[in-house]
Amino acid sequence: IQQRLRHNDRLNLLGEITAGIAHELNTPLGNILGFSELMLREEKDPKKVADLKKIINSSLHARSIVKKLMFFSCEMPTQFKHYYINQLISENLGLLQIQLNEKEIEVVLDLSEDDLPIRVDAIQFSQILFNLVLNAISAMDNKGKLTIKTHEEEGEVVLNITDNGKGISKESMSKLFQPFFTTKPVGEGTGLGLAVVYGIIQSHGGKISVDSELNKGTTFTIKLKKDVQ
Ligand code: ADP
Repeated sequence: IQQRLRHNDRLNLLGEITAGIAHELNTPLGNILGFSELMLREEKDPKKVADLKKIINSSLHARSIVKKLMFFSCEMPTQFKHYYINQLISENLGLLQIQLNEKEIEVVLDLSEDDLPIRVDAIQFSQILFNLVLNAISAMDNKGKLTIKTHEEEGEVVLNITDNGKGISKESMSKLFQPFFTTKPVGEGTGLGLAVVYGIIQSHGGKISVDSELNKGTTFTIKLKKDVQ
């Protein structure tokens, strides 16, 4: 419990710091983008055009990181409402179809026969699903298999997301939910995905755990309280 508390304190503090940094970076980044776009419009020299495009692409990339940081840190107003988990999953999976198709990933839905009620913020629930599924996709080669399972266990709604990807090493396992922990190449990962997921699960009073075996795959398990009808 103590470790969890410390983790939460750290997340809160980090949230405040990142919010400050993200806001400070947003304006100069906007200026870099705006001015380089202006210059690009007037530039004829192909070498300079190519360079300006590189500046613009890098600024766009930096801006997308700042956006993630803002999402991670800002206290978005949460709207806890009554939903059904299988329905939320089906709606969100539609939005992930492009990424799933790119790698020809087979999706197996093993959803509870009766849909299970939960009390969540729909946007934050999407965020959980997106982060876990996108991580699963990047851990798998072409023709991977992603299983999404829901069932009820002792008054809780359990969601398992399983991939047959490369798995997580023991060393990584202990740092998984730490903000900025990533094994992805610079520019690809921010290491905020699972920290965001952890924060959201906490604010929903839920639990998250991971099971993984190297070169076999990984299962993330989320437990949420079953909502009253
Ligand atoms: P990011 O995806 O930006 O690296 P995350 O916090 O989402 O940040 O994930 C942190 C790290 O956890 C990843 O870099 C990866 O090493 C590991 N990871 C997360 N999910 C999986 C998974 N399903 N399979 C293998 N490794 C994973």
